[in-house]
Amino acid sequence: VLVLRIYSEEVSVKTERRFQVVNITGYVEEVVRKSKIVEGFCLIFVPHATAALIINEYEPRIVSDYIKWITEVFKPGGGWRHDEIDDNAHAHIASSVIGTNRFMPVRGGSLARGAWQEVMLVELDGPRTRRVLIQVVGE
Ligand code: ZN
Repeated sequence: VLVLRIYSEEVSVKTERRFQVVNITGYVEEVVRKSKIVEGFCLIFVPHATAALIINEYEPRIVSDYIKWITEVFKPGGGWRHDEIDDNAHAHIASSVIGTNRFMPVRGGSLARGAWQEVMLVELDGPRTRRVLIQVVGE
């Protein structure tokens, strides 16, 4: 009989800049460890309209490239209608496209991730305090 368990935790992340990439892999791995779930998956979710999550390499040059890409594609102040009431249309659109959730497999009691894969919170309209919800589901 398969008995699924769900373990949830919320982590708070303070950002310091308008655009910032924060490596949160350590938090996620800590929650997976505390869950004591051996096989299953981990959902990572940011309950925000102007932040996003990515999984990729965390290295200073590529991190600045992520921000370069975001500001080139989702141009801040690019004539967006929403900027008439709130100065962050680019952040809403980037959050919509990049996404506010990620799933990762949990195997053998830890996150099954590639050597160059880190979980990152992408701040698109900082500085703010961001919440990250982490749910581990499995047995
Ligand atoms: Zn807004």
